[in-house]
Amino acid sequence: MLLPLPLGDGYDYRVPPNRVLRPGDFVRVPLGNRVVSGVVWGKGVGDFAPEKLKDILDSHETPPLAGGMRRFIDWVAAYTLQSRGAVLKMAMSVPDALNPPPPVTAYAASPEPGGFKMTAARKRVLEVAAGGPPRTAAELARLAACSPGVVRGLADAGGLHSVSLTPTAPVSNYDPALINEVALSPEQAVSAEDLVTKTADGGFSVTLLDGVPGSGKTEVYFEAVARALRDGGQVLVLLPEIALSAQWLARFRDRFGVAPAEWHSDLGQSQRRATWRAVAGGQARVVVGARSALMLPYADLRLIVVDEEHDTAFKQEDGVIYNARDMAVVRARLGQFPAVLVSATPSLETAVNARDGRYGISHLPARHGGAQLPDVVLVDLKEQTPPRGTWLSPLLTAELEKTFAAGEQAMLFLNRRGYAPLTLCRTCGYRFQCPRCTAWLVEHRFKTGPDGPGRLQCHHCGFSTRLPEHCPSCEAQASFAACGPGVERLAEEAALLFPDVRQVIAASDTIESPKAAADLVRRIEDHDVDLIIGTQIVAKGYHFPLLTLVGIVDADIGLTGGDLRAAERSYQLLYQVAGRSGRGRHPGRVLVQTVMPEHPVMQALQAEDREAFVAAEIKARQAASMPPFGRLVALIVSGRDEAAVDQAARALSRAAPQRDGVLVLGPAPAPFALLRGRHRRRLLLKADKGITVQNILHPWLQAVSLPRSVRVQVDVDPYSFL
Ligand code: ADP
Ligand code: ZN
Repeated sequence: MLLPLPLGDGYDYRVPPNRVLRPGDFVRVPLGNRVVSGVVWGKGVGDFAPEKLKDILDSHETPPLAGGMRRFIDWVAAYTLQSRGAVLKMAMSVPDALNPPPPVTAYAASPEPGGFKMTAARKRVLEVAAGGPPRTAAELARLAACSPGVVRGLADAGGLHSVSLTPTAPVSNYDPALINEVALSPEQAVSAEDLVTKTADGGFSVTLLDGVPGSGKTEVYFEAVARALRDGGQVLVLLPEIALSAQWLARFRDRFGVAPAEWHSDLGQSQRRATWRAVAGGQARVVVGARSALMLPYADLRLIVVDEEHDTAFKQEDGVIYNARDMAVVRARLGQFPAVLVSATPSLETAVNARDGRYGISHLPARHGGAQLPDVVLVDLKEQTPPRGTWLSPLLTAELEKTFAAGEQAMLFLNRRGYAPLTLCRTCGYRFQCPRCTAWLVEHRFKTGPDGPGRLQCHHCGFSTRLPEHCPSCEAQASFAACGPGVERLAEEAALLFPDVRQVIAASDTIESPKAAADLVRRIEDHDVDLIIGTQIVAKGYHFPLLTLVGIVDADIGLTGGDLRAAERSYQLLYQVAGRSGRGRHPGRVLVQTVMPEHPVMQALQAEDREAFVAAEIKARQAASMPPFGRLVALIVSGRDEAAVDQAARALSRAAPQRDGVLVLGPAPAPFALLRGRHRRRLLLKADKGITVQNILHPWLQAVSLPRSVRVQVDVDPYSFL
């Protein structure tokens, strides 16, 4: 038996007489004085006196957890050095879903409303309810941006009428007749044929679908999805930021006639429950989701697509630390079906796997419909210096002007939320820092908090405070200076330069829900907006035909810091942003503001020469035996008591494995030496490629006994070095 408990690694129970249980069955068992649900994993270990064993109580009706998924849970646990119980817990993330859902109360527009007090919120609810299907109070409240209490109050007052609904699976069967055919270009057809054949044949394979933005990668992998659907299996499409993928969902509906099941952190509880059940029961045929969708209990998974496979959002950084892209490949291998990795800028790991023949590769070299890739111009900020206190160079300003004059749209990209990344006192030099993290507080000027507009925020822990009138250090009044730009400050500058231009800020704190994202996309598509000022949330996937100019305000941001993947990631991000430009009939331009135009990342962007850049990066990694040519594991030691953390880190260092091909670096204070009030130290294990690091880590971690106040997180294949 495996129980979804963080420390659990298998429990023995007795099967009551006359009961037949199979591996994978969901059952209920007594544990202490509780009853918990778990999964039959196989025969017990048998080192327990039979008379001491407790009986399994009863079974849930849920279909058994498929063998591929059980092997996957074992594998992930072993690889990440987590307990199997912790991994099972991710797969059983909706405990309620094991039981049939109780009926829910839903509300619909009342045929004859009236006689109640109208408020703005009630009016919004009625607008949303009008003509729609019955919805739960939570759903209506979300759509009408009010509290569920408003909805219930309105129903009590007679403005809505209530019905009892049995929640149904979000997706039922696909009708092959509803799947629209698209006429593929010859190159697309070749790629699609390859993927369709692999999907139809089954068996494990990994294929990199590599094509410039706009080349039709999505259309191509939709062919494989269609094939899997016709053959009766389930399909998982992983997207890095599902909450922001309104355009993707719309395209899917156009093509397949129905919506896929969605899985992400923004789902309501009843939707979660229904989706989990539909995935386990096999009724949800296509799931599109964020990384956690990989852990759902698929009944019959036959294809995984990882779109934007290079994206670091696939890396889960807390709890069970894993990379969903890598684990998707493992899942496909254990389940014996194909995986498709999709990117215009594949990760170096994937590029090397493709180069060495472990992965198949399918190229789509051109944009669909003859659209040209945009021209990339490097703007050397040392020559094209913006006026003091501003961030747009004369060249970029002139290009913006031309674009607006032509009735086209522009995007300014700056990967910094808020108004300014640092605020300091002009009199004494005091800098506002988070009391709980090693980080500056970021000023947010446009956002209104409980005590008026303007806040200082920590982007790591959420700490927030009002900008005081006096300097906390020298008491000087009105002496604060904002240092550097965030998107809000850029918006201010653009508004001064182009007062008639309709602009919008797109950042994770201004676009907070999938609905807000969908609204934004619609406004851009409808040309209600001329200028988009955005962070990385606008970098990905979007297709805006009228957008012809992209200005990258500070291309150098991502290159600082000692991150192994800094150059690779910068290139990927900037290339993605650049790819938003000129996707329709009008040719696009990209202006890249930098103080290092000679940097290989900038050169590769300008020359459209990814191959040379990737080759150089591969060479550098190989020379340094860095991933994927060597292995890395990070240990992050943390706790509230700094001395205890230090001591523990040193103890780990003393016990570090000594053997050829293994090197342990640290302990060093993590770049965020303080995060959410916890002190942090890092150790880094570097090993030769052929070494199974798990075999080294187990004895190492067991050799050191640590105080309970100190936690050690194991990050195999770390992406973040913070
Ligand atoms: P990518 O995923 O490579 O960025 P997309 O699949 O999003 O490319 O395609 C870019 C645009 O071109 C989309 O609007 C898509 O609908 C369109 N497109 C691509 N291929 C075709 C095709 N064969 N027929 C019609 N439209 C296509
Ligand atoms: Zn903080």
